[in-house]
Amino acid sequence: MTAAIEVRGLRREFRVRQGVFAPPKRVIAVDDVSFAVPPGSVLGVVGESGCGKSTLARLILGLLEPSAGDVVVDGQRLSAMDRRARARLIQPVFQDPFASLNPKRRVRDIVAMPLIAQGDISGHDIDRRVNEALERVGLSPDQGTRYPAQLSGGQRQRVAIARALVLRPRIVVCDEPTSALDVSVQAQILNLLAELRRDLGLTYLFISHNLAVVEHIATEVAVMYLGRIVERAESETLFAAPRHPYTRALLASVLTPEPGLGVPDVGLGDVMPDPANIPPGCRFHPRCPVAIAKCATEAPRPANDAAGLVECHLA
Ligand code: SF4
Ligand code: MG
Repeated sequence: MTAAIEVRGLRREFRVRQGVFAPPKRVIAVDDVSFAVPPGSVLGVVGESGCGKSTLARLILGLLEPSAGDVVVDGQRLSAMDRRARARLIQPVFQDPFASLNPKRRVRDIVAMPLIAQGDISGHDIDRRVNEALERVGLSPDQGTRYPAQLSGGQRQRVAIARALVLRPRIVVCDEPTSALDVSVQAQILNLLAELRRDLGLTYLFISHNLAVVEHIATEVAVMYLGRIVERAESETLFAAPRHPYTRALLASVLTPEPGLGVPDVGLGDVMPDPANIPPGCRFHPRCPVAIAKCATEAPRPANDAAGLVECHLA
């Protein structure tokens, strides 16, 4: 079966300055990442801020060019597709619906934008497809005539989802789609996304720093740390028997979240990961509670088995 999303040896570097007079540094935000997502499944990607998960999302959406490697969507190389073909296949839903919706346009016009950008579609067809998308996400035709500022946060995220669905894509990349919402609304949006996946046979790449959210929706989970996937497994397996020390620390942190920071307190001291200064050896070793001597000098290689992938000397 052709994978819905396949990435091979994906890498993305940036040059950043950490001060006005500092020379630019090379940051490897995504470092040799490979995986395949079967159609109809949900790959949850978790990790702290700065781990590269949003960069990964943008690479898969074609919003960023890879420094190396390939993104293959539904059997076609992303780099060989034009923007319109790409939009028909894969669509984004981002974190902050308020920032991603044009405040000067009515909801209907916002949802219609991807259709209009395709060109060659009648006004009648646009109306029909917009109504279909609004209905799918539980918005009324009346709400379609309003402006984003007249809607609640949850309704605005429904608008963003309707806009993502209007071209009937096969794949949706969700980057923290519920993180800006109240907890009660988060569950509604997650349930809506789960229902849409079932009804429309969608495939999701679902990015979140919130493990509870990922556990709710993902069929498979990839854990990212400083640009690499350090563990990947079926969701149930990963939550029941995490194998990487970082995954275990993340899971433990769910029990003692640090509110307001958006970054889980992994309970491993105050050494925060800095993508501009990736430690030698295993990149997790300065924070790892079970590190051994060679972890400081030798990078572990990814080991694949029936249960998934893990990158740790002790696994
Ligand atoms: Fe910890 Fe070593 Fe495994 Fe890295 S390789 S996660 S430092 S035990
Ligand atoms: Mg992000």
